[in-house]
Amino acid sequence: MNLTVFGIGYVGLVQAAVLAEVGHQVVCVDVDEKKVERLNQGLVPIFEPGLEALVKENHAAGRIKFTTDAAAGVKHGEIQMIAVGTPPGEDGSADLKYVLAVAETIGREMDSPKIVVGKSTVPVGTCEKVKAKIAETLKARGREDLAFDVASNPEFLKEGSAVADCMKPDRIIVGTNSEDTEAVMRELYAPFNRNHEKMIVMDVRSAEFTKYAANCMLATKISFMNEMANLAEELGADIEEVRKGIGSDPRIGYHFIYPGLGYGGSCFPKDVRALIKTAEGVKFDAKLLRAVEERNNAQKSVLFDKVNRYFKGNLKGKTFALWGLAFKPNTDDMREAPARVLMEALWQAGAKVQAYDPEAMQECQAIYGLRDDLLLCGTKEAALRGADALLIATEWKSFRAPSFDAVKDALTTPVIFDGRNLYDPKVIARHGIEYFSIGRMAA
Ligand code: NAD
Repeated sequence: MNLTVFGIGYVGLVQAAVLAEVGHQVVCVDVDEKKVERLNQGLVPIFEPGLEALVKENHAAGRIKFTTDAAAGVKHGEIQMIAVGTPPGEDGSADLKYVLAVAETIGREMDSPKIVVGKSTVPVGTCEKVKAKIAETLKARGREDLAFDVASNPEFLKEGSAVADCMKPDRIIVGTNSEDTEAVMRELYAPFNRNHEKMIVMDVRSAEFTKYAANCMLATKISFMNEMANLAEELGADIEEVRKGIGSDPRIGYHFIYPGLGYGGSCFPKDVRALIKTAEGVKFDAKLLRAVEERNNAQKSVLFDKVNRYFKGNLKGKTFALWGLAFKPNTDDMREAPARVLMEALWQAGAKVQAYDPEAMQECQAIYGLRDDLLLCGTKEAALRGADALLIATEWKSFRAPSFDAVKDALTTPVIFDGRNLYDPKVIARHGIEYFSIGRMAA
């Protein structure tokens, strides 16, 4: 099938590459000329396991093309997929200007019937706005004869395993009331729907809402667990034992109940805020979601507070090794990463940071530029040299079993503040290192 994807971000690029891999002809349109130019040179702008090879192979095979030419993009695809960003506006609600700009482009350039697919995470009712925008643009052209439909098809990929998630989706949600549109969507996703039925077809509004409900549920699990962890510290309980104890109940499960420094990334924070705003719009008080967000914001400061207490508020002139910058492992994404809140608080207190992350160093440089109080180190060991303590903000695999003796030797003060509960407090104690983590007492 011929498919056009608007927006070559995380979602657009991964989906396009995966759909090209199974044989669809995909044209990707983006307004970012540099990004398009670099992709045409084989330079993939994000780190995601398996993505670079997939993009290069399909580009070389001519199944995926990158362009800024929106008119050519609209002409190409019988399906027009909108995967542009929906960042938070000033009040936290989702800003739809990019989505509606694409809708206008489609209305302006189309000269044959189209199925427009909303892939971006958008508030309930957005597909109706997209429909209205296309209809209005067609009317202005005197081309109301051109047929089109707008379906919702939210994306559930996880950064860090995005390619695998798109290759083997848990579910494919399609929101449409049209049998014809459903048939086209079934054909598009048939290669991913062979093992068992994964497509769940529903009305458009429910599909749009499903995406928010899923992200808000996951964010709620995280904030709940962080609340339990903070309380466990006060009560003298060990949250890691509690986690195993409750996870064994199949109604709760082990997924997404790790205590830590709060959720970050480009989705959970903005989607929780956006749903709160959507609720306000219909005069509904989303009490639980407001608490989820409040807990998360507070959680991002928990490790800094522990460090500050340990050093009795005297952080000026101290140097801290920081392992982990990305908001989670296997990505270089630092949007709303807890590490940023931590670093900024340390700088504010007059401390220096020696940081290492397996993938996010360039991203960190791009965000913060060159500054005297930030040293980006080539290895996790280099980050330790001469530091007053080790702080851990991301649970990368390569951090799980370091040489604790080497850690102890490199640090001025043998102390670890672990925001991801990577280690067994008893093991650390045996190595003569002080250890502070989340929801557990120091050993
Ligand atoms: P992103 O910010 O990485 O990329 C968006 C891209 O859209 C950018 O390259 C931008 O230049 C481009 N763009 C903006 N206006 C355009 C236009 N008029 N025409 C063509 N391109 C245009 O965004 P993302 O992380 O891929 O997210 C896209 C959407 O998918 C969002 O709604 C997001 O909430 C949702 N989503 C994201 C993830 C994720 O893990 N990142 C997962 C599921 C859903």
